[in-house]
Amino acid sequence: MERHGVLVVGGGLAGLRAAVEAKLSGADVAVLSLVYPMRSHSVAAQGGINAALGNADPTDSWERHAFDTIKGADYLADQDAVEEYARDAIERVLELDRWGVPFSRTEDGRIAQRPFGGAAFPRTCYAADHTGHAVMHTLYQQSLRLGITFYDERVALKLVKEGERVVGVVAMNLRTGELESYAARAVVMATGGAGRIYARTTNSHHSTGFGMALAYWAGAPLEDMEFIQFHPTTLYGTNILISEAARGEGGVLLNNRGERFMARYAPEKMELAPRDIVARSIYREVLEGRGFEGEYVHLDITGLGEDRIMERLPQIWELALKFAGVDARYEPIPVQPGHHYTMGGIDTDKHGRTEVPGLYAAGECACVSVHGANRLGGNSLLECVVFGKRAGESASSDAASASDPPSGPFEEAEREVEAWIGRLVERGGEERAENPYHLRAEMQRVMWEKVGIFRDEEGLSAAVAELKSIRKRYWEGAGVRSGGKTFNVALYDALATGGMIDVALAVASGALARRESRGAHYRTDYPRRDDENWLKHTLARFTPDGPVLEYRPVVITRWPPRERKY
Ligand SMILES: Cc1cc2nc3c(=O)[nH]c(=O)nc-3n(C[C@H](O)[C@H](O)[C@H](O)COP(=O)(O)OP(=O)(O)OC[C@H]3O[C@@H](n4cnc5c(N)ncnc54)[C@H](O)[C@@H]3O)c2cc1C
Repeated sequence: MERHGVLVVGGGLAGLRAAVEAKLSGADVAVLSLVYPMRSHSVAAQGGINAALGNADPTDSWERHAFDTIKGADYLADQDAVEEYARDAIERVLELDRWGVPFSRTEDGRIAQRPFGGAAFPRTCYAADHTGHAVMHTLYQQSLRLGITFYDERVALKLVKEGERVVGVVAMNLRTGELESYAARAVVMATGGAGRIYARTTNSHHSTGFGMALAYWAGAPLEDMEFIQFHPTTLYGTNILISEAARGEGGVLLNNRGERFMARYAPEKMELAPRDIVARSIYREVLEGRGFEGEYVHLDITGLGEDRIMERLPQIWELALKFAGVDARYEPIPVQPGHHYTMGGIDTDKHGRTEVPGLYAAGECACVSVHGANRLGGNSLLECVVFGKRAGESASSDAASASDPPSGPFEEAEREVEAWIGRLVERGGEERAENPYHLRAEMQRVMWEKVGIFRDEEGLSAAVAELKSIRKRYWEGAGVRSGGKTFNVALYDALATGGMIDVALAVASGALARRESRGAHYRTDYPRRDDENWLKHTLARFTPDGPVLEYRPVVITRWPPRERKY
């Protein structure tokens, strides 16, 4: 059994930032990750990271950043958390700069900032259109420099508890297929988003939400899961992201009549209205017959000119060429909305603590909440560094006064996981076994069709019922054909599917209960925001029969809810 002071599960931006902080504050730190850190989804982030540096416009301020975030969130964000987040942002981004992130620069050498949706000023700092890649390289280098231990290609399958306290994880080593125990005084979940519960998503294959499920099963509630961000512009065919930077730099959206249709929906902000509004507008254009092939609209960046495209948006140009055969310098890019971001997640306070002792969370798998009902572009990388740092700090300081866990609970947890794997492999030989990939695909279809951009009572009730039946079929009948040990991806996928179904059920149940429209959650049968009844966070607690929902008031400090207009 391996033992550490702080164990971080997940090697993406939030995980690395938490690990660096815990290490700097003196803890013995290890990162356990399903993939090599540099293959985490954070590396795919394109557009940038927000901080009110005021380099593009000196009148920008952290208060203005906080307000834009709260308005973007449709007033569901906790305002105390957002204030601290927007204030910390400046120092966190300057720190990244000092650590070596090659940010794009202004003529006079300061960090350049570009306009992004829902922001009053150009506030998004960037490294061309591969910001995540640049930030991740720098943090990984810092992690290696500090001597943090890495356990790569290990998948956490269970959080181990001693009484009420989380004391480590049982993981499977993908190279050997063996189960391994990792004891720690503090465990930080940083396992990323849950995009793969949807049929169309910009997220990578390992953004399953499995880590959220592990925390949920261990007793931590999931907060605001019904708020799922659909990105307006994903490449038609593969749903690869076409960054908001394309619109930030001046790209326009056109329907099949050649109209800049955003004029109908957000006459002032046009293409730079927040994502939920742009995504719904595109969907509506397509539904009403003004799309192409009944599926997509055009994103036209030809007006920027070749030089600017190749300087500012080289990756977008390359993605469109490779994956859609479109040369964006001369022709429009076909785009449609797709799942992009999971606003909800493991419920934490402003310091990354969950309500379960010994368990912390940060990054996309967590919900603080600063994004509320709709996250603004550039605010998520920022969340990873602001709250990753804070979670690392809390974990390290709590670990200093905690005692080392005993080994008893690990033996029992390993036996439970073994039994789960054993059942899957045993049933694999049976003719009638349910194929986990089919169950996963059914779940993804249900989520896209019934818990998607437009929702209503009928669709959502049907979704909850179908997900419950998929869940039953999984636990009673799923089987994996191959019992191989080395990189048994089918087995790993089957295990993750069990977690994904419960996460999907939390999303659908929260959406069914919330009879209003707010941010990304749009109910055609309740099209208005209802502050009287619904200005509150959803907390889902796990039970095998489906989530039990509770509610908690939103923290309002200085910005009383107003109508959200762009
Ligand atoms: C295409 C794309 C572009 C984006 N662009 C931007 C942008 O420009 N600006 C912005 O602010 N945001 C952007 N976002 C959002 C942002 O990138 C993510 O929210 C953020 O990077 C998530 O970081 P994370 O550390 O929480 O998770 P991730 O980077 O997803 O890392 C999760 C880690 O957890 C590990 N893991 C998962 N499950 C387990 C398990 N069970 N056991 C062990 N390890 C596990 C994985 O191996 C991985 O290392 C973008 C997102 C996408 C998909």
